[in-house]
Amino acid sequence: MTLDAPTAARLLVQARAAIDPVDAELLLLHVLALPRSWLFAHADEPVSAAGAARFQALVARRAQGEPVAYLTGSRGFWTLELAVTPATLVPRPDTELLVELALARLPADADARVADLGTGSGAIALSIAKERPRAQVVATDASPDALEVARGNARRNGIGNVAFRAGSWLAPLAGETFDLIASNPPYIAEGDSHLAEGDLRFEPAMALASGVDGLDDIRIIVAAAQAHLRPGGWLLLEHGWDQGDAVRALLREVGFADATTERDLEDRDRVTLG
Ligand code: GLN
Repeated sequence: MTLDAPTAARLLVQARAAIDPVDAELLLLHVLALPRSWLFAHADEPVSAAGAARFQALVARRAQGEPVAYLTGSRGFWTLELAVTPATLVPRPDTELLVELALARLPADADARVADLGTGSGAIALSIAKERPRAQVVATDASPDALEVARGNARRNGIGNVAFRAGSWLAPLAGETFDLIASNPPYIAEGDSHLAEGDLRFEPAMALASGVDGLDDIRIIVAAAQAHLRPGGWLLLEHGWDQGDAVRALLREVGFADATTERDLEDRDRVTLG
């Protein structure tokens, strides 16, 4: 070991000046192709000059706002490790609430039919399909690139009970009915300043923004959903913390008598279902 070869611990301390400590660990372990547990015992070992340089380049990109999941190419969601690319939104922990609410409405042995609209990396569809192996899940997306990522995630995770369809929301599902329809559509207002800040700048606008009030795509889905639901079927929609009242009103307008909104871990309105 030469005196100036940086150790993993030293590289992480330096990176913390610019980026989040957990992001720094994820990037270093990605560069070294090692599991997280490696750090506990080996943080004082030197890292090769090439490895250190590659790590520092990723830290610089992260400091400019590129999502860490795009830099490493994957993200953990539910119990899955999912490939993500700039064609897909980075799966968020908030969306695990939607998965939980969906699973609570799908008996373990049910051979239910489930749709996930705008699946992106496949996070919702694949989590439900893995937990409910007898269910048949259909995932749609208007982006062929996103569907390619989602198909790869199904393959890598060994999940066979998901079919993928290209097209917008329910459009590729003409004539089909479901026990449960779930979606995390775009719901940020087009003028929202957050779209020009931080990680969101690097994510697909079509997965984030939806008209002047952020509700354009939710309106399209709600208007079409009834015709695709079986008796007693459920519609579950993720939305922004301040959109619960509006989304419940949209559901009631089309005849959902019992629309309710559930709160996320930070106690903000996040998912409306009916
Ligand atoms: N929850 C995301 C955010 O605010 C937005 C995701 C979405 O529009 N579906 O960062």
